[in-house]
Amino acid sequence: MIPTAKYTKSDQQIYQKTKKYLERKKETHMEEKMKLVENILEIQELEKRYSYLYDFICDYLDQEFQKKDICGFHCGICKRRRDMITRKILKDTYGNGCCYSYLKGKTCEYLEPKNGCRIKNIACKIFTCFYLRRQGYRYHVKDIYFARYFFNSRQLFYMENTFFVDKPVILEGIMKRR
Ligand code: SF4
Ligand code: SF4
Repeated sequence: MIPTAKYTKSDQQIYQKTKKYLERKKETHMEEKMKLVENILEIQELEKRYSYLYDFICDYLDQEFQKKDICGFHCGICKRRRDMITRKILKDTYGNGCCYSYLKGKTCEYLEPKNGCRIKNIACKIFTCFYLRRQGYRYHVKDIYFARYFFNSRQLFYMENTFFVDKPVILEGIMKRR
């Protein structure tokens, strides 16, 4: 239980709701998980708190996609595009997954050949194409326990649907939608 005097009413609600959510899902390592939520709640300044959460969500998604090899890149070609090759869907290129836009006929300007994406965008990180969704891969920020109760629905929609811009732009948008 967090010391109530130290936290605002809404922060106490975030804490309690997260705890109940984890209990409902019968999660393990509850103490560790709630400690992380406490650490986030320790950050009083709202913009700093959002910034910390933003980085944490990005790291979580990077690890999740890597650990499960969700896009299954091999020699620069992802699962979905390999499927297109198998089904003989003719395209000018199959490389770079959805960082290459068939609509624009070019690769995203932020993609670096050796290091991958050079910006931090949650929408790009959380996106899964129809091919992956059919396999059950679908992600939402509200399903990530430590972030679930920190954002309102406008902020969540904005974060998950604003692609190809870097963290400072998204943070500004999050602050505006409080
Ligand atoms: S989301 Fe789909 S199209 Fe985009 S990189 Fe992953 S598998 Fe490829
Ligand atoms: S901004 Fe999105 S589309 Fe562009 S390189 Fe990064 S992940 Fe790919």
